[in-house]
Amino acid sequence: MSAENATALVLRVVEFSETSCVVTLLTREFGKIGALAKGARRAKNPFDSALDLLTLCRVLFLRKSSGGLDLLTEARLERRFRPPAGDVARLYAGYYLAELLLSLTDDYDPHPELFDLSDVSLMELSRARLPVGAVVLRFEMLALKLLGHLPAFSQCVQCGSTVGPAGRVAFGMLAGGVLCARCRGGKRQVVSLSAAALEGMKTFADEQTAQWESAELGGKIRGEIRGVMNHYLSNLLGHRPKMHPYLGFLAQ
Ligand SMILES: [Zn+2]
Repeated sequence: MSAENATALVLRVVEFSETSCVVTLLTREFGKIGALAKGARRAKNPFDSALDLLTLCRVLFLRKSSGGLDLLTEARLERRFRPPAGDVARLYAGYYLAELLLSLTDDYDPHPELFDLSDVSLMELSRARLPVGAVVLRFEMLALKLLGHLPAFSQCVQCGSTVGPAGRVAFGMLAGGVLCARCRGGKRQVVSLSAAALEGMKTFADEQTAQWESAELGGKIRGEIRGVMNHYLSNLLGHRPKMHPYLGFLAQ
């Protein structure tokens, strides 16, 4: 066993015994880890009350060499996830980010940029500067990009020919992006997307600019994009995210 230091976001806390918890952490240095936090449920514990959902903390843990849970020995609180009081939408959006991170990442597969994106997104949700739906969509797009799952928006995912930007385009949920008129035939789970929705998605996926912050998408376009993203992510995960039923506000 080796002792490791890491910066971590708490993605899940499960009671393990009367005194202990099992935590799932997204660490910047090692990716996702599962660790036993002995004594975490005692009043006096070495974890500084840091093991709450979506808390940012510095941790020390003993890494198990052969599978099994790591052992968390210390946690020091850096920041709590604190959306404005009574703002359930931002709270649920935070839970949704945690769910996506749990589902889309593998143990000990570090993605420092994804960690930083998650950290920034949670801060944005807490600050309430930008609409909650926009913060979540930006997170989804960049997370998909960093993990290699971003759909193709400009070139046909099958043959590479340019699609759009005018008129409606075919978007293949299973194919993983837009399809040209020649390639769309015979494909399953293809939806028709408006040019405005496609442009909106591109804006949110463009990590080079912050244009998404000022993008003004009408309610209809937001609803259209939300429908595509929910469907696409459900396919990618192999199930509908548990938080989706609570996220109707994202399209508002
Ligand atoms: Zn094509």
